[in-house]
Amino acid sequence: MYDLIIIGAGPAGITATVYAARKKMDFLVVSGDIGGQAAWSGDIENYTGYQFITGPELALKFEDHMRKYGVMVKEPEQVLDIRKIEDKIIVKTDKGRYESRTAIIASGKRSRELSVPGEKEFKNKGLTYCATCDGPLFAGKDVAVIGGGNSALDAVLQLIKIARRIYLVNIVSHLTGDPVMIDKVHESDIVTVMNNAKVLGITGAEMVNGIKIRYDGQERIIPVEGIFVEIGLIPNSHFAPDLDKNALGEIKVDCCNRTNIPGIFAAGDVTDLPEKQIIIAAGEGSKASLSAFKYLNQHR
Ligand SMILES: Cc1cc2nc3c(=O)[nH]c(=O)nc-3n(C[C@H](O)[C@H](O)[C@H](O)COP(=O)(O)OP(=O)(O)OC[C@H]3O[C@@H](n4cnc5c(N)ncnc54)[C@H](O)[C@@H]3O)c2cc1C
Repeated sequence: MYDLIIIGAGPAGITATVYAARKKMDFLVVSGDIGGQAAWSGDIENYTGYQFITGPELALKFEDHMRKYGVMVKEPEQVLDIRKIEDKIIVKTDKGRYESRTAIIASGKRSRELSVPGEKEFKNKGLTYCATCDGPLFAGKDVAVIGGGNSALDAVLQLIKIARRIYLVNIVSHLTGDPVMIDKVHESDIVTVMNNAKVLGITGAEMVNGIKIRYDGQERIIPVEGIFVEIGLIPNSHFAPDLDKNALGEIKVDCCNRTNIPGIFAAGDVTDLPEKQIIIAAGEGSKASLSAFKYLNQHR
């Protein structure tokens, strides 16, 4: 029986581990990966103390900080279910079953899928959800980025340095990300912005060779070798059926990261708190750990 189980090792989960280690709690970390979305981010210019750092570099710094305390992460391991039965929290994963007195859910978000013909077939065969991870595979090639918000703009800005031509396929009438990023995208002469464009399917043989869209009232296929799907994120909260969530599926928390189930806390992008940012997730992770520590002291 652990004091605490932390689910997720992105900015929120890793920061929670640092605080838990410093409070000498007996804890376990279970995560799909280390770094979370921070490791997929391109250039980060808003994490205080670093005027500029890449996502993978910042994720590595987080991991080093956590390892300094000797924290071991069960990874890759997926949590399939969490519930509280009497005083025990029971966490079931694809590899085992664990028990604890408290838990912090810091499982963040995952990419939303397009749900068009060809998406499943060509996943990892030219179609990807991560420009940071897979962008370099498309050096000198024509690619499409699907989306119009910050994730799509971030992907375009990374790909400008790599690809030959980029089609930004956006379903609504204008780009919705940060104005600074929109300006940078418009400044590039290798980017074609296609607003009011709907993706109908992905084409290819062994690998992607095009994207079928409806644009300007016509159906057409744009020949591309790479497709980056950046149409938003879904909270990873499906494994916690007993927790209260909002309409988006985000776990509801109060100012001390408490959920509706005493002893289960949540932090970061998976929660209903506004603004999904690395610095906010990290701060929330620290608060969740301190709240779990207080809860343990009050309930021993
Ligand atoms: C392309 C992109 C660019 C971004 N750029 C910036 C930026 O410049 N500045 C900024 O501040 N923010 C940026 N963000 C947002 C930022 O990355 C997130 O707000 C932050 O990473 C959230 O941290 P988190 O720990 O809550 O969740 P995540 O980073 O999503 O981490 C969640 C963790 O939980 C694990 N997990 C998920 N489900 C399970 C499960 N069932 N079982 C076990 N483990 C699980 C995952 O493997 C992961 O380790 C960007 C995001 C993206 C996608």
